[in-house]
Amino acid sequence: MTDVTGQWVDIDRLLLCNGPMALDAFTPTQKAVDWFREECRVLVIGAGGLGCELLKDLALVGFRHIDVIDMDTIDYSNLNRQFLFRTGDVSQSKAHVAAAFVNKRVYGVQVKAHHNRIEDFGDDFYSAFHIVVSGLDNIRARRWLNIQLVSQAVQEQNDDDDEDAPIKWHPKTLITCINGGTEGWKGETRVITPHNTPCFECLVDLFPKDPYNFPMCTTAEKPRSPEHCIVFAMEKRWVEKFGEKKIDGDNEVHINMIMEWAKEHAKKFNLDDKAVTYNLTKGVVKRIIPAIASTNAVSQQLAQMKLSKLSQELMPLLKILPILQVIWVALVCQQIMSLMKLA
Ligand SMILES: [Zn+2]
Repeated sequence: MTDVTGQWVDIDRLLLCNGPMALDAFTPTQKAVDWFREECRVLVIGAGGLGCELLKDLALVGFRHIDVIDMDTIDYSNLNRQFLFRTGDVSQSKAHVAAAFVNKRVYGVQVKAHHNRIEDFGDDFYSAFHIVVSGLDNIRARRWLNIQLVSQAVQEQNDDDDEDAPIKWHPKTLITCINGGTEGWKGETRVITPHNTPCFECLVDLFPKDPYNFPMCTTAEKPRSPEHCIVFAMEKRWVEKFGEKKIDGDNEVHINMIMEWAKEHAKKFNLDDKAVTYNLTKGVVKRIIPAIASTNAVSQQLAQMKLSKLSQELMPLLKILPILQVIWVALVCQQIMSLMKLA
């Protein structure tokens, strides 16, 4: 497709000349640009906080054939950071609204929306993509996606009849997944190429545990924070009064009761009881972890480093090296934009 608006001229410069990130085997040609524009298919999973950023970046750098999957609908609380959505879009499909926004805004880009669960699709669907970028908000779904992509790898025939020969995988069946996730101030961006890097399942135990899981001796005898006092009120005072009855995080009476007990506990240990607020109490009770836009910027910084390393690790997948370089640039741009938003 001719770049009639000149919108991708800077990316073309990158693809049409060599650079310090390129392997020796990378030959900058118009063919590489055409492949990138016309043939490369990217699947974005999730059209939420990370998905909105990714769709914008991918479209602006010239990925033209993007699919996006999201089963969710838009909520008011999404509007502060999921900037492809407006007030009038509330309760509509995230995937459809995000796709329509990008298609309208970036000339020549075709984002195809799927208002579905990731499990609704199988091998045929996923194998059609060269690269998958995931911005899922839960571990269960990321595990499912990981198994789906890893299990699609096909072993190459070993002609030598040598049983000790290392296993080779058909490069085209190794679908790289760039896996992003954030939790409050914590974030990660991980590149997973099946059978070349550890997969999601290999490292799943590294995820942080429940942030409010404090030992009872700390919350009861040595509380140091308002959260400690709230957890004490939930685990000790509530249980003493109501036994097994569950706390309803949406019930104002329940939250107020926990808050008052937590304030009492804070005073007893000379802590600032004003720090125990209604919202904080509700947040701890419901295990709410706020989504923070700047975490994206930090996790993308990590993506830069990971993708730099990746350029050395993907020898069998030379075909996608130019894309990785472009994604690297996209992530740098995204980081700069995120920082600008904060300024
Ligand atoms: Zn693994």
